[in-house]
Amino acid sequence: MKNLALIYPNKFKGGISCLAMHVLYHHLNKYKDIRCDMYFLENYSQIKNKDAIIITLQYENDYFNIVKIIEKLRINNPKAIFIGGGPCSIANPLPLSNFFDAFVIGEIEDSSIMYDLINGERNLRGVYYPEYHGRNREDFKKIKRIYPKKLSIEDYPIVQFTHPSGAYGKAFLLEIGRGCPRRCKFCMAKNIYYPPRFRKLEDLTYLVDEGYYTILP
Ligand code: SF4
Repeated sequence: MKNLALIYPNKFKGGISCLAMHVLYHHLNKYKDIRCDMYFLENYSQIKNKDAIIITLQYENDYFNIVKIIEKLRINNPKAIFIGGGPCSIANPLPLSNFFDAFVIGEIEDSSIMYDLINGERNLRGVYYPEYHGRNREDFKKIKRIYPKKLSIEDYPIVQFTHPSGAYGKAFLLEIGRGCPRRCKFCMAKNIYYPPRFRKLEDLTYLVDEGYYTILP
């Protein structure tokens, strides 16, 4: 059994309303030999003796918290692999390359990349290992981003532990699509989530119908 900590590197209020946290929690806990718990800025210091620490990199402003979190948790989790993922990881993991062991470059649904990485696989497509790949722009160009060709409902977190104190209250988080068909040159979202993909209307209806009941008190 592998014990993992999934960390949102800011307050619970924002983290519990972050769909990526629910996607990862749902994805990782579906493996019978993995136990994954969520943590936030308020409680991460309890984390001890984990096999992997996964931190979602949603905003560059969180980098100050992330460095503090990793420096503290390296002491209490000597065997853990520290993994970064999320939009900032896809866009540019280099500023944090001295702190993490690996970065997932892409979207984890429809792949076993997280499972393989946690179980010690190396040389995975879509993973940047700073120690192995180096820390300059040219080395980083060798990494290939991974992503599912279409967004399915299988990897969607229908059960979400949203909370009234969350940024969106006790709302069900629904992702309609990913990426954008417009091609504004300055836009990061267009690049890191290319090609744009949208969920089918019947899938959205199903998710709303099912998800609605999971958030009822
Ligand atoms: S800024 Fe980005 S997300 Fe907005 S319309 Fe342009 S490409 Fe799409």
